[in-house]
Amino acid sequence: ADVYGIRNWGSGYFDISEDGQVEVIPDPNAPDKKIRVLDVISGIRARGREMPVLLRIENILDSQIAHLHTSFQKAIDDFRYQGAFRGVYPIKVNQQMEVVEEVTQFGRQYHHGLEAGSKAELIAALSFLTDPEACLICNGYKDEEFVDLALWATKMGLNCFLVVEMPEELELIMRRAEALDTRPNLGVRIKLASRAGGHWTESGGDRSIFGLNTTQVVALVDRLKETEMLDCLKLLHYHLGSQIPNIRDIRSAVLEACRIYAGLSEEGAAMGYLDLGGGLAVDYDGSHTNFASSRNYSIDEYCADIIETVMGVMDDQELAHPTIVTESGRATVAYYSMLLFNILDVGRLEPQPFLDEVSEETPDVIISLMEVLQGLTLKNIQECFNDAIYYRDEVRQRFKHGELNLRERSMAENIFWHIIHTIARKVKHLKRVPKELEGIEEALADIYYANFSVFQSLPDAWAIGHLFPTMPMHRLNEMPTRHGVIADITCDCDGKLDRFIDPHGVRNTLPLHELRENEEYYLGVFLVGAYQETLGDLHNLFGDTNVVSIRMQPDGTVDYVKEVSGDSVADVLEYVEYNPRGMLNRFRRTAEAAIRNGQITVEERYRIMQAYENGLQGYTYFER
Ligand code: PLP
Repeated sequence: ADVYGIRNWGSGYFDISEDGQVEVIPDPNAPDKKIRVLDVISGIRARGREMPVLLRIENILDSQIAHLHTSFQKAIDDFRYQGAFRGVYPIKVNQQMEVVEEVTQFGRQYHHGLEAGSKAELIAALSFLTDPEACLICNGYKDEEFVDLALWATKMGLNCFLVVEMPEELELIMRRAEALDTRPNLGVRIKLASRAGGHWTESGGDRSIFGLNTTQVVALVDRLKETEMLDCLKLLHYHLGSQIPNIRDIRSAVLEACRIYAGLSEEGAAMGYLDLGGGLAVDYDGSHTNFASSRNYSIDEYCADIIETVMGVMDDQELAHPTIVTESGRATVAYYSMLLFNILDVGRLEPQPFLDEVSEETPDVIISLMEVLQGLTLKNIQECFNDAIYYRDEVRQRFKHGELNLRERSMAENIFWHIIHTIARKVKHLKRVPKELEGIEEALADIYYANFSVFQSLPDAWAIGHLFPTMPMHRLNEMPTRHGVIADITCDCDGKLDRFIDPHGVRNTLPLHELRENEEYYLGVFLVGAYQETLGDLHNLFGDTNVVSIRMQPDGTVDYVKEVSGDSVADVLEYVEYNPRGMLNRFRRTAEAAIRNGQITVEERYRIMQAYENGLQGYTYFER
């Protein structure tokens, strides 16, 4: 059984083999060519790299770019739309060099461009983008340096747009264009009244931080008229927010934007480009609904709805069909990375067998707890639960006042856990579970200690409770017998995963297998390619993980195309201003002093210094 729903959220890229292993299908057009994740893990370890590892499957990035373009092309052909589609990749979604490089190289056949939201991103974009037919969209706050670079790019023949996000930016752009003796390609970002549901949709609506309201748009048009630059205004942009689950919200925003586009054309602006921003959602939970972690539409429907809506308004207004630009980031990169880690240990809230015999000295409160346990039936379950809590509290009180000793308290708590476990087993047979007993099984869940940091690798899971599909990479032909939550190794009580996807919503524990002796248990978190890498932080000084990129060749073999070492301990200490050389020197002096005091020998000093140096050079995560 597909306990983890991989076939629902895997989008055709992930599946389970007959012998119970997760396999990747890098190219959905060649579904018989598969890669087993466990083989890749062996390959990574044989190359001397430890878990955790961020695994990138390059073919999936290519496939997602191709998918977006073929879907738009199909909609364009079906509706006989007269304009073109130009996708741009917003660098903020994953700024890693290899992502931007791959998007521009593979995307060239589709004239896929880039979106830069800052000066640094524009500088990165200019180092890769050379296709004059691709769009380069400049959003965000712009200073003179930013504006100048974009103007030079236009002068050099790139299809670069300076999108006015704040009314004041226009004067700066006009001044710099005159100074550089060029005419800018202007866009304007608008605030739509339309809003969308979901986690990340504050970018839309009247109160959104960026963009011009209609009064400001009209003022911009007047200023451009005054300076005879209305022919420079070519693009209308909005961004409703990321991960928009409901197609209705997408349609309503496109409609409103089209009306504004038509208004600008009527005013005499050149126009020609309609940039709908990001928002194309990823179905993280596989439910195909309008839950925040899903979407109630496919990419094909998204494209068809956009083309149909734009065409309707443009035909109505007798306007030429514009080039449609989208800035899809999440949907482009999410699928292509997965986080792999091993489980280090399991903690269980399991009572011990009774070792202590009851005697005449056994305190009455412990006898009472025993009686609760012995008298527990399906009928009096609620009553027994209340009694157990009552006596447990009584035990704690008496312990505080010195009336019970440590062994007695321990014995009482052990009986208490026997009661809770028995209740949890019986609750399953009740038709109606009393409110207080809901979730009792979850309270008893195992804790699987995992070798990664939520703060470094899954910041959205910690910050906003974002759900990512999480599951074992193997043993999937064995029914999982345990329920667990996952704790990371930061020792922070927030460093955990305790909300998991479920076809019916969210569940608080994950079905997992018992650990086997001398055998690693590997888990993976999927769809982590978007937003997680640079948002991550150094909590408890766990640094960047190792990153390995693989590519399946046409014959089905796997190439390990790129390997990037994660941070060493020295690296992360340097980020927080330590100087490893100085540290070594200070520690060496401490060791010399210990020799003088007769605490260690010279030989031991040598070994101590080696351990310290190796520690500095080593990985920040748990190494076996
Ligand atoms: N465009 C702009 C202006 C954005 O701010 C963002 C991110 O929020 C995106 C595009 C990417 O959105 P998404 O990842 O939902 O495609």
